[in-house]
Amino acid sequence: MRETGGKRRGWRVAGGALALVSGVALMAAAPFSAALADDGADVPGPDMAAELAAAGVSSADRGALSGRRMVAGRAVTMLKAAPERAFRELVARVGEADGLAASLRRAGVTRGDAQAAADAVRAAAGGPVHAGTRVDIRLGKPGGGGMRPLEALTLKPRDDLSVTLERTAAGDFSVRREAIGVTVTPLRVSGRAGDGLYWALRGAGVSARAAQDYLKAIGGAVDVGEVGAEDRFDLVIEQRASQDGEANAGRLLYAGLDRVGASDVEMLQWSVGGETRWLDAGRLGGEAEGMIWPVAARISSGFGMRRHPILRYKRMHKGIDFAATRGTPIQAAADGVVIRSGRAGGYGNQVRIRHEDGTVTSYSHMARLSVAAGTRVAQGDVIGTVGSTGLSTGPHLHYEVHQGGRAVDPRGVGSVQRATLSGEALAAFKARLEEYRALPVG
Ligand SMILES: [Zn+2]
Repeated sequence: MRETGGKRRGWRVAGGALALVSGVALMAAAPFSAALADDGADVPGPDMAAELAAAGVSSADRGALSGRRMVAGRAVTMLKAAPERAFRELVARVGEADGLAASLRRAGVTRGDAQAAADAVRAAAGGPVHAGTRVDIRLGKPGGGGMRPLEALTLKPRDDLSVTLERTAAGDFSVRREAIGVTVTPLRVSGRAGDGLYWALRGAGVSARAAQDYLKAIGGAVDVGEVGAEDRFDLVIEQRASQDGEANAGRLLYAGLDRVGASDVEMLQWSVGGETRWLDAGRLGGEAEGMIWPVAARISSGFGMRRHPILRYKRMHKGIDFAATRGTPIQAAADGVVIRSGRAGGYGNQVRIRHEDGTVTSYSHMARLSVAAGTRVAQGDVIGTVGSTGLSTGPHLHYEVHQGGRAVDPRGVGSVQRATLSGEALAAFKARLEEYRALPVG
């Protein structure tokens, strides 16, 4: 009896629970069915469900983003317009062909803001921002014309500097410069030249820029086409790791080539007279640069005592004259720096160039001057044209060479010496070379 009673009671309880559950289910289902089930076709039958499953379409309640029909039901209210976001954040890259201002404009910054921001960044960075630099931009709420004003901008013009602009209450930009700590370590890379140096370098993980710099550096000492497959490249590249986690391969510092059956090459980047150059460690004793004649023309008057054609008395002719026609281009006899370009009394229009060993060449009676004082020129660069300015009877080039402050016969000077290192500079150069030679490859 007890057992039976227990069973009955159990049933009753179970029945009550069941009724309660169904009631909740019905109540819960009612509002949804009113909103969704107005079109019976939206509920797929077994065949349709199989078709959809085969096509990879699942129901929205399983989080699907696709469906056979995706329409808003009556429960969805359409807004008249999308609300404006308070600000927009975007990322731009400085273009290859144009600068920061143009890149900002492309990203949607107004012309005025773009120019003002670019000017402020240039001043803060101390120069133009190079192509490829990432710029994080924040635009504010659209103004009257529907354009969003520039609110803030952050970029890294260099790996050790971050610049942030923020619009102030006054409408202009405040500039914040933040230094980023950078650790510089030299990295040595070595390997076999194989079929070609460039691809061998790239294969060893050297950047395209460093590989090109390497070829240019050793090209100053060897014919790159004659490098053998068993020759080994040996270079040191600056590795820069900034505090914010960015790692960059920096400049090429040392370019070496260990050659089989030929002399090795060791080139080191070095600053000479404020200018960074590749110096050949094997030729530190000095390098002669053969001079060229400034014009290809007949020499009409040599160096020495002569009767002056205009002044009509014997005097020293401190240079040589070339009989060239008016307008003939005049070339720099050797690399150097223009120390004068302008009128020089009887010499007329004159250019003077100081070469690295102190030798000065001068070019007179010129028609046109095409270089300014302070300009660095390479041998063969056109510095102006032949004319007849100053004390001159007709178009010709009067060419002088001065050494030790005195005019010498240009025909006796075949070459000038390229700057060499001596004393402390030479010791520093050798120490650096030893430092790189001792670096482990890796
Ligand atoms: Zn002369």
